[in-house]
Amino acid sequence: MENTLPKPVSNADSQPYWQGAREGKLLIRKCSACGQLHFMPRYLCPTCWSGDLEWVEASGKGSVHSYTIIRRASDPRFAHLVPYVVALVDLQEGPRMMANVLGENALETKIGDAVSLVFEDRGDGDQLPQFKRTSV
Ligand SMILES: [Zn+2]
Repeated sequence: MENTLPKPVSNADSQPYWQGAREGKLLIRKCSACGQLHFMPRYLCPTCWSGDLEWVEASGKGSVHSYTIIRRASDPRFAHLVPYVVALVDLQEGPRMMANVLGENALETKIGDAVSLVFEDRGDGDQLPQFKRTSV
């Protein structure tokens, strides 16, 4: 894959998330006050607004809540990848995240498919959490 793809841009809230990805971990936030797990990285719990959060490592297992197949890239840097799959993945731990479904059979993705975490190399050590189908 060409490395013309955009690289992750971290901020104060997401820096540990991207550092975790560089180390092969999918990190999600857990609220120490109410126990709720959430994604994407934030500094406040979206359930109870507590700022007392910790990072936990997700299993990387999930299922496809919904998906779409991109056939015309809105950004020219993605044009060489079409057609490709963008999915909403429900993590086994509960939070929902958006990612690509990668792999030879990605275009056969269906709602409810089991998926597992893979990392896409974006160069210079940057890794993007993505998924591949495990139910084929
Ligand atoms: Zn909370």
